[in-house]
Amino acid sequence: MSTRTPLIAGNWKMNLNHLEAIAHVQKLAFALTDKDHDAVEVAVLPPFTDLRSVQTLVDGDKLRIKYGAQDLSAHDSGAYTGEISGAMLAKLKCAFVAIGHSERRQYHGETDEQVNAKVKAAYRHGLTPILCVGEGLEVREAGNQVAHTLAQVDGALKDVPADQARTIVIAYEPVWAIGTGKVATPEDAQEVCGAIRARLAELYDAGVADAVRIQYGGSVKSGNIAAIMAQADVDGALVGGACLDADEFVKIVRYGE
Ligand code: PEP
Repeated sequence: MSTRTPLIAGNWKMNLNHLEAIAHVQKLAFALTDKDHDAVEVAVLPPFTDLRSVQTLVDGDKLRIKYGAQDLSAHDSGAYTGEISGAMLAKLKCAFVAIGHSERRQYHGETDEQVNAKVKAAYRHGLTPILCVGEGLEVREAGNQVAHTLAQVDGALKDVPADQARTIVIAYEPVWAIGTGKVATPEDAQEVCGAIRARLAELYDAGVADAVRIQYGGSVKSGNIAAIMAQADVDGALVGGACLDADEFVKIVRYGE
């Protein structure tokens, strides 16, 4: 039996301004109980412009909800107009930062090398990366989902030492399932999540492989989460669209009930 605490994280994408963010986190805080927080680590990933408001609420009310950003710069400071550094996120007490989300890879051309640099930047500032990996439809139809995803894992973790890698969260998100309503079957999710854990054992050791939390992401809802979470190598979910409805997100957090 694994001792990994499940992590359910809501990726708000480019939704909710800072006032809406406060209302949303207040709803979550009102609904989530200590029992929920004891069973599952709950995190939200709002847009950058919301983080200060979320921090104020979480700090002020001593909430157990964690928060983080959806991206960060590979650089720590300097002439990088429009970018946000890990140092800035750490100052806002972010716990997590998503790195290499398929929408960043697709719309911003992020490569595995850039993802690797961002993972290292996150660790320089004490942030836990939620490393997003996963194959597109063509790769899946060709049956190459495992090789494709493991190559992304290898690239992202290049020269990342074991003491850092053991704390990473990896989100397996088949691109064809993101925002499409097409959810991977629990067996599909397990196939790739299990392969990721086996690769961590090869790259590092069994201890690292056992420690790392691997999430599934792709059209997760309250109606499909339990079957996915029942898989041996799935330790949580990265939830996009469904997390914008606070009641639905709470139901997802309570998948075990
Ligand atoms: C995501 O954005 O990481 C995601 C999984 O989105 P959705 O749940 O909407 O498919």
